[in-house]
Amino acid sequence: MIEFRKVMKNQVEYRFDPLTEEQSRINPARAKRFKQAESDISLKEVINRSRETCVFCPEKIEGQTPKFPEGIHKEGRIKFGETVIFPNLNPFGEHHAVGILSAGHFLDLDEFKVYMLRDNLVASKNYILSVHAHDQEATWPIWVWNFMPPSAGSIIHPHVQILVEKDPVPQQAKLLRESKRYFEVNRKNYW
Ligand SMILES: [Zn+2]
Repeated sequence: MIEFRKVMKNQVEYRFDPLTEEQSRINPARAKRFKQAESDISLKEVINRSRETCVFCPEKIEGQTPKFPEGIHKEGRIKFGETVIFPNLNPFGEHHAVGILSAGHFLDLDEFKVYMLRDNLVASKNYILSVHAHDQEATWPIWVWNFMPPSAGSIIHPHVQILVEKDPVPQQAKLLRESKRYFEVNRKNYW
């Protein structure tokens, strides 16, 4: 009943979300194209330069990141495994926190371990529950992970954004709507 549809047109792959029918397009040949932006500074250099001033690294995090009020967490920062969660200094939402994923400043894709994601999700859940206990109207959690500049991650150090809002964000509202429709048609929980 859940179909992962993929259509090829002129070497472009159109992939469809099985619930919402939204599409993403992938052209594998683009990976080989010349990129002007990356031509003069290597990734290695970006990683090394950013490490020197990174406030998400373990030696700076204590002194240079904000703390939650006691009502949210009595020690100010939520820690679990390598995860550390604290308020976002430049929020773009309600109850907006940052969750560091690893003690390491940079991890290659194959260096992320299951426990890092598990611990981060558990700690994020604790943050979300704590916010909700404090503010009954904050009912809609969001957990976002952008990694590295091509995905709009402006800080190299692996981290996620956690928000708890009064209303579902548009994409969340859409998933709820489509999930309900799926249930009505199939009498089964999509998720
Ligand atoms: Zn760092």
